[in-house]
Amino acid sequence: MVGPAAAGAARAYDHVVVGGGGAGCVVARRLAERGSAVLLLEAGPDDAGREDVADAGSWPAMLGGELDWGVSYAPSPQVAGRRIPLPRGRVLGGSSSTNAMLWYRGHPSDYDGWDLPGWGWADVAPRLELAERVLRVERPRDPHPVATALVDAVVAAGRQGAGGLAELAELTAAAEDDGAGGVRSRRWSTSRAYLRELPPLEQLPGSGSLTVVTGSPALRVEVEGGRATGVVHLLDGQPVTSALVSGGEVVLCAGAVETPRLLLASGVGDPADLARLGVPVVSALAGVGRNLQDHPLLEGVTLRLREPRGPVRDNGGGAVWNWRSASPRSDAPDLHCFVTQAACATPAVAQAHELDRSDPHLVGLGVGLMGSRSRGHLVVRDLAPGGAVDLHPGLLADPADRAALLEGLRDVLDLADGPVFSALGAQRLAPLPTLTSDTGDTDLEELMSLACTTFFHACGTAAMGRQDDGTAVLDPELRVRGVDGLRVADASAFPTVPTSNTLAPVVALAERAADLLVPWSVRR
Ligand SMILES: Cc1cc2nc3c(=O)[nH]c(=O)nc-3n(C[C@H](O)[C@H](O)[C@H](O)COP(=O)(O)OP(=O)(O)OC[C@H]3O[C@@H](n4cnc5c(N)ncnc54)[C@H](O)[C@@H]3O)c2cc1C
Repeated sequence: MVGPAAAGAARAYDHVVVGGGGAGCVVARRLAERGSAVLLLEAGPDDAGREDVADAGSWPAMLGGELDWGVSYAPSPQVAGRRIPLPRGRVLGGSSSTNAMLWYRGHPSDYDGWDLPGWGWADVAPRLELAERVLRVERPRDPHPVATALVDAVVAAGRQGAGGLAELAELTAAAEDDGAGGVRSRRWSTSRAYLRELPPLEQLPGSGSLTVVTGSPALRVEVEGGRATGVVHLLDGQPVTSALVSGGEVVLCAGAVETPRLLLASGVGDPADLARLGVPVVSALAGVGRNLQDHPLLEGVTLRLREPRGPVRDNGGGAVWNWRSASPRSDAPDLHCFVTQAACATPAVAQAHELDRSDPHLVGLGVGLMGSRSRGHLVVRDLAPGGAVDLHPGLLADPADRAALLEGLRDVLDLADGPVFSALGAQRLAPLPTLTSDTGDTDLEELMSLACTTFFHACGTAAMGRQDDGTAVLDPELRVRGVDGLRVADASAFPTVPTSNTLAPVVALAERAADLLVPWSVRR
């Protein structure tokens, strides 16, 4: 591991990976263990030794903090004109170091539905299984009572198995000895798992090298004669160029906001955007920054239990319910509910209901639409990493999304008002008990517009597609069209957001990206 001050050796690399996040740590490690000389550039600091990252229950406190890029979604009428923060990890491990740690593979139809060679369920599933071993994915061993209550409530409502499943959640957090005779739940980010816990490269015959530089934001990819030749990045605040060996490749893994920014800074994008930003056209690709997708999440159901809820366990949740609406997007369950060992309320909902978040009796139920159809776009205003960008995700813009999420909200209100939560002495604080599943659409839609927020699953802004797809930025092997030696391997590459939390598909995509870049068979 190399920190910011020590880096900058004048040498060329087989691969420069930009962004040490959910995908980048996986790609960099896999390439290095197959013999490549790899440089991994991360804008943020190292995550090693940080208790806020390691403790599974601490992630909400990191939202908007020093490890966050601090971007937000632009206001829109569907969300009552509110600006919605979009947290993104700016630290080694990226958002896998700051996220909520739910591991959800999605459904076979998510991947088969992309209809791209090499990306079907049969290709992705083995890579998910591999990643689950590396990331020590496990379910809560001693779940919080509210987690158990969600599963029991679904069973009591007769909804278990009927087009859906409630279960203790799989997490990239594992129980570890706390040194005092108990256990504590600790995060397994991709930085921890792939950079620190896998066997050292020196122990692997034929492996190459991995140089990790933190605090070093990339500014652009150098392209000469239609081929990537290196990356310009800041080192101690000064721009330097790290070059590729002949035939080497740059892999952008900077996430769904910063990857399209880097493409534009490198001359890849819509010519109108490039002209506005003053960048000469290298490859005219109108799809860069289009196709922005995220799942809408409702943070609007908060209950007050008779007893205090007790210390936080696991990731502060612990159970999920996935089920199908009347008109799902695909064969997959499109609705999702999770519990929170705290209030579940946007600032607007909390204010409207005068919630006291410090009340130790509060728990919540989040409702998400995983089978969302709405799509939006982003507009880069400033090419500097983390600079101004207008993000228009189009949350709830599609009427079918509003109808499905309304159905999900009604189902969850029924659970909240049912016998299992009643047995815990639950009083509904938000929405007020006068709002029930029988309430008319207008009032529930008003709640929905105040409660809608990001599920943190931004993706799709440099999407792959078939050769004849004019909007595709990448070919099915993740190559940027029109530039040799440049690929994208992160959440930007998804053509359609899977019906799951996005880390699992990101890691599977990263594992496959490494296989495309350096197949096992050519390992040196
Ligand atoms: C608060 C939160 C909660 C979430 N909860 C869950 C969850 O429970 N389960 C789940 O599956 N998913 C969850 N997600 C989403 C999931 O973590 C992301 O989809 C996934 O990490 C995306 O991977 P990525 O590699 O595309 O981007 P990231 O993981 O965000 O990584 C991008 C990396 O690139 C770096 N970078 C950016 N620009 C530059 C540059 N110019 N130069 C160098 N480095 C750069 C960033 O600092 C970052 O480290 C959550 C996300 C957040 C933020």
